Amino acid sequence: MFRSVHNSTRVRDARAAYERVRGAHLDAVQAAFEDHILRLDWSREQIERYREQRLRALLGYARERSPFHARRLRGLDPSSATVADLARLPVMTKQDAQDEWDAIVTVPDLDLRDAERVLAEQLWFSYTPGGRQIFSSGGSSGVRGVYAWDWELFVSFACLAWRFQAREERRGPPLPRATRLAVLTAGEPPHASTPLFDMATAAGMDTVVIPARAPFDEVLAAVAAARPTHLVGYATVVGRLARAALAGDLELRLARVSTNSEPLLDEDRQAVRDAWHVPIHNLWGSTEIGVQAVGCGHAGGLHVCEDEVILERVDEAGVPVGDDEPAARTLATGLANRTFPFIRYDLGDQVTMLPEKCSCGSGFARVADIAGRRDDDFRYGECTVPASAFRHVLGTDPRVSEYQVRQTSAGAEILAVGQPDTATLTSSMVAALRRHGLPDPEVRVRVVGRLERNESTGKLRRFVALDSHPGNAG
Ligand SMILES: [Zn+2]
Repeated sequence: MFRSVHNSTRVRDARAAYERVRGAHLDAVQAAFEDHILRLDWSREQIERYREQRLRALLGYARERSPFHARRLRGLDPSSATVADLARLPVMTKQDAQDEWDAIVTVPDLDLRDAERVLAEQLWFSYTPGGRQIFSSGGSSGVRGVYAWDWELFVSFACLAWRFQAREERRGPPLPRATRLAVLTAGEPPHASTPLFDMATAAGMDTVVIPARAPFDEVLAAVAAARPTHLVGYATVVGRLARAALAGDLELRLARVSTNSEPLLDEDRQAVRDAWHVPIHNLWGSTEIGVQAVGCGHAGGLHVCEDEVILERVDEAGVPVGDDEPAARTLATGLANRTFPFIRYDLGDQVTMLPEKCSCGSGFARVADIAGRRDDDFRYGECTVPASAFRHVLGTDPRVSEYQVRQTSAGAEILAVGQPDTATLTSSMVAALRRHGLPDPEVRVRVVGRLERNESTGKLRRFVALDSHPGNAG
């Protein structure tokens, strides 16, 4: 009893300390909004000039301060580099980013061990003495990643995530005096989703965080009780709430909806439209690059954040392809990340460019909505378990370095590389599957030395559904 009281006091203190620094950080975000909103009206020339200067700044800094990038940037003069010159550099993979962490980071007072210590010891979200936040995520490739977001980087990401909404709030009819944003994200460390999306975009707005991983009836009840005017959250959760509203189980008067972290499927977008008749801002992001593209709420697709991110659509060999040609993958260079530069980083997603200028008037290029990896979902009769249910557990366990999930008729077999506590992992996975409606899940965790990769592509099939003829994972 004493211990738990003691612990809860410590947690409360940790949260209070975090909130004090975060308050200052949010003020910095609000200040930067002014500039970011104006950028949305930039001409192509302004966007391209700005982007090129930012690229040179990033390359010059990374070459000087990151041994990893110094090696890769040999032979390129940052002071005269152009976006096209990026094609001369090697692709940076998720595995590179984690294996070479200490050679990539550009600051002397932070290495992977320090970052892991923060993740292991923090009682709540926290800031390092240097003003950095440490996050961890499973990501779509299944390799666990540890990330450091510095002060300025978070300001950039927050502005990118919210500037379209903020512009529309200012342009549109006046909002009711009291507005409230319901935030449906992980709700707790180590995921970056909550600090990034728990953000007021209009004066006088308050926010309430509702963990999206709770059983859906709890989420539904919490959203109903919060009576939000704005929603932001995982696309599948927002879609499910919209369907609940259409069924008469949820009554909300919404002004705006923002979705993220998962592909926004057509049926979810349509349900949101039908239920609430409000603008939808979909976001395509990653913990590494932050925010790659955001929907403006006017037309379909997403505006690429070209002022802060360079995207290259490339073929299998990493060679850029034309806008109208099919691409094998998308590489991203994050222009705002000085602490841990990502240069030609393989996002693992494919995007399609939309050639028409957007009706919102912005000159920022647009991509089509990111296609979902729907084959990553496991279906058990009527019940669907999204890949994220596995990723949330497996992808953030520091003792699991890589994994593969194979669907079985009543649950899953998980192959894990590393030294996981299999009993704990099994019970966490069983609980997660129950939350998604699987009544009596069977989960088996096997620790293996390595996972078999596809012989021709070298790719690892992370999620192997029962109906997809897995063969022998070769
Ligand atoms: Zn637009």
